[in-house]
Amino acid sequence: MDQAIFDLAIVDGTMVSSSSVFKGHLGVDQGRVVSVSRGLARPQARKTISAEGKLVLPGVIDAHLHPVYADRMGRLSRAYAAGGVTTLVPYIGAFKAWGGTGGLKKSLDDFIAEGREKSLLDFSVHLSLNSQDLGELGSTLEYAASLGVKSYKIFTAYQKRGMFLSDQEILKVMTEVVRVGGLLAAHCENGAVIDFFEDRAILAGRTSPEAFGSTHPDLSEAEAVFRFLCLAKMVDCPVYLPHLSTWQALEVLRLARSWAGPPIFAETCPHYLDLTDKLMGLWGTRAKVSPPLRSQEHLEPLWAALKGGLIDVVASDHAGHSSLAKAPHFSDVYQAPTGLPGGDLLLRVMYDRAVAKGRLSLPELVRLLCEKPARIFGLWPTKGSLEPGADADLVIFNPELERVIDGPNPLLKADYTLYHGKTLKGLPELVIRGGEVIFENGRVVESNQPGRYLAAWFDHWPKTAKA
Ligand SMILES: [Zn+2]
Repeated sequence: MDQAIFDLAIVDGTMVSSSSVFKGHLGVDQGRVVSVSRGLARPQARKTISAEGKLVLPGVIDAHLHPVYADRMGRLSRAYAAGGVTTLVPYIGAFKAWGGTGGLKKSLDDFIAEGREKSLLDFSVHLSLNSQDLGELGSTLEYAASLGVKSYKIFTAYQKRGMFLSDQEILKVMTEVVRVGGLLAAHCENGAVIDFFEDRAILAGRTSPEAFGSTHPDLSEAEAVFRFLCLAKMVDCPVYLPHLSTWQALEVLRLARSWAGPPIFAETCPHYLDLTDKLMGLWGTRAKVSPPLRSQEHLEPLWAALKGGLIDVVASDHAGHSSLAKAPHFSDVYQAPTGLPGGDLLLRVMYDRAVAKGRLSLPELVRLLCEKPARIFGLWPTKGSLEPGADADLVIFNPELERVIDGPNPLLKADYTLYHGKTLKGLPELVIRGGEVIFENGRVVESNQPGRYLAAWFDHWPKTAKA
């Protein structure tokens, strides 16, 4: 019998899944992976790409980004594509600062419409709630859930910006999240603590970038994590902890996981694994992010938490502003907006710092960047996997090329990077989304098919989902 002819074959590559690494071939048909094989027999296809000497990875999922500042989905998705990311799960809310004015339902509708029109990449959505959104909470979450938006986020900080929720309000949100079968994330820092230290610093005239970290004490994160996890246990709400940054928060997480209760997932970001508060003196407000860059003592415990499985996901928390928006860079740090660019470098930084430096294996990297975010947010096994049936979202990655980051990403309006001048080993050479090449020879390749909106498949966390 003749062998099937596929649309695309990727041959002689080193295939990397979350459980194994092997030399082999991959067949793609109608946008999906249809065969993964070892050995001499290569799949027959109308187009064949050699991945000799290269790694073939599932496309990376960035489960945490804010495409609402210098760059929105159009530009961001292209910069991400060049970085080997093929699925985006941004946080969307009705915050004035994010350009949302007409309430949450409208923000969601507008954002999904914008993504469908402008994004080169497939995307899903998390919904962020602030204190003004609680009036119609039940109907808002029902509406979001009906669209397949099943993960939500609240803030335990930022009273001055209208984002803070009290414990009572958090319990109210959790109850509704449980009712619609969702998952709740929280930005965990104790807002009252931050406001106290910030007011005191301002009164004392301590407004230099170096003072910023002291207004977000390490323990303000651990305290908020503990309180949030206790509240979640009281009402049995599955939860997700984004951007953990301190070893104390990890200790709390370990303790809470040892108790019976709802699922608890945790995330950290490359900047907490690799950068420290020393950059505040160098980059000023351009390095201002929340939680802030921490001291050196937190880095190794965070790496150990990745290795040991305490942390499930690494995501970028990309919130890129232009240098101009971050001005003045070295005075009045409290006035400058918060957030760092970096989603475009997520895979490269993690490959270099984790795999090339020997801290994590390739399957561990794929688990943290691809498989776990897909499982937790209802995209598995269509996304995050190389198995037959998965969308053919693939990265052909050269593990040997070493490059100095010589400037900001030209595809972005966020016109600086804290990685300027740093050397990273490994480079995405070719990126495929749904069987179609979208990045090749250093250039983004436009597609006739815009990115698709992805509804979370699970009906009810944790009954129908397994992560
Ligand atoms: Zn964020």
